[in-house]
Amino acid sequence: MIRGLKRANSVCTFAFRRHWASLSNDDSGKEVLFTCQGRCIFKGCKVTFTSHVDKNLQLHVKFRGTVRHAKTEKACRYISGSDREAMKKVLKRKLSRLHYLEQMKKLDSEALASGCRDGCPSKDV
Ligand SMILES: [Zn+2]
Repeated sequence: MIRGLKRANSVCTFAFRRHWASLSNDDSGKEVLFTCQGRCIFKGCKVTFTSHVDKNLQLHVKFRGTVRHAKTEKACRYISGSDREAMKKVLKRKLSRLHYLEQMKKLDSEALASGCRDGCPSKDV
C-alpha cells in the first residue's frame, strides 16, 4: 500500500489514520475490498489521501490538498515489517551512515528537496 502511495507522491511522508475491510462499491460501482485514509506528517502540509483496493487488487488513490513543507523540516516514515527485517540484515554488515548516504542518492530530486527521507534510516542507528 505505502509503495503505491509513494509512486504517486514521492515528496510527502504518509501516516495512516483509518483503515477498514468491507465489501462495498466505489463511486464508479466497482467492488472495494479494503479502504484506508491518511495524511502527510509534515507540519503545515495539507495533503490527505483516500485509497482503496478493488476486487482485481488494483490500488486507487485520491489525494487532496497542497504540498507545503518547511525548508528545514525533515521527516521519514517508520520502517516496519519486511522492510525492517531487510534493513537489519544490511546494517549488520554496513555502517549506518554509509547506508544513509546510499539511500539518499536513490531519492529523486523532488523528494530530496521536500525533506522527505522515507527509506533512509537515521545516521545514528
Ligand atoms: Zn506533505
